[in-house]
Amino acid sequence: MSTRTAFDSSTAGVMADIAFIECELLGAARARARAKAPAATRGKARPKSGQSSPATAMTGRRREVVVGGRRVKTIDVHAHCVIPEAYALLGLKVQDHRGPGINEVGPRRIREMDAQGIDMEALSINPAWYRAERDLATQVVKIQNERLAEFCGKYPDRFVAFASVALQFPDLAVQQLEEGVKKLGLRGAAVGASVAGDEFSDPKFHPFWAKAEQLGVLIFIHPQSTPDLATRLKGNGWLANTIGNPLDTTIALSHLIFEGTLDRFPGLKICSAHGGGYLPSYAARSDNSLRVAPDMDTGIKLKKKPTEYLKTMYYDTLVFTSEALRHLAAEVGVSQLVVGTDHPIPWQDKSIDHILKAPGFSDADRRAMLGETAAKLLKIKR
Ligand SMILES: [Zn+2]
Repeated sequence: MSTRTAFDSSTAGVMADIAFIECELLGAARARARAKAPAATRGKARPKSGQSSPATAMTGRRREVVVGGRRVKTIDVHAHCVIPEAYALLGLKVQDHRGPGINEVGPRRIREMDAQGIDMEALSINPAWYRAERDLATQVVKIQNERLAEFCGKYPDRFVAFASVALQFPDLAVQQLEEGVKKLGLRGAAVGASVAGDEFSDPKFHPFWAKAEQLGVLIFIHPQSTPDLATRLKGNGWLANTIGNPLDTTIALSHLIFEGTLDRFPGLKICSAHGGGYLPSYAARSDNSLRVAPDMDTGIKLKKKPTEYLKTMYYDTLVFTSEALRHLAAEVGVSQLVVGTDHPIPWQDKSIDHILKAPGFSDADRRAMLGETAAKLLKIKR
């Protein structure tokens, strides 16, 4: 099942890691809060200088992020959950999912968010229903979207959510997106990187992109490995995920660009997980391929250079190093970056520090990445 390969790890050791991370972060934050106590206002520490010392502080158990003297509402656009009853309908088991606590949206998750300094998560469910029949897919999506809306209603300051949609039935997906946004208050849709073997650039999906564009909502693309390469991705290294996932995103975005889908829907707001996969790392190749091989041009006239489209989409910051974040920002623009943690899958435990500590960004850049850009995209009040 592709959902299994899309996730990370599910051992008791991972749970221990999360507990350790939380303690470590809490300890560090408390130490910082103590050191800055004289400058604290209403329990929130202030940095010594406005421009150069992003700081964090704790109020109780919750880490609060302050940059340039301003509290930032941090928003994580890449946070997974599953709804057990919907999962059961698909014949899947929650315990087969990676990510400790993935079936919980409540105190445990909030505690982990508090430790990392995440104020809000935009919840999404990876699509495991793209090969389901219409009735089943309808039922699964209905349950999921209603439950997601319940979570957001119960914890309005901590969660928003992306609707699930049955994209294998584009007309149904259009309805589900519209209902999810207008009736349930969901903030967009979470999708895979292809639909049961069909690329997003396939004209049959145009009505869905048109609806997303019309509603002005964000579409979160999360890969589901590249099953066609399963034979080559066997062996050590969990390559189906390590390579398969970023490659899946790279293929999806490349088709959206080269097939003219982004020209057709210029207002479409797309955010890709994992920093957009490999595409931003080797972007300029896309600008040169048809020059080298004009016989491979199928006649689609793009309005811009391929790399220009990269600057119109959004990406999470799950790229691990300061240098990778710098390069991503250089290729797509810092205005296009938003925090993504992959919570509760433990790819990283310092998503906030990753942004606070990377050199070369202004305080305004950091605030944008940490939450201001996501707040605009997800219509979250700051
Ligand atoms: Zn993920």
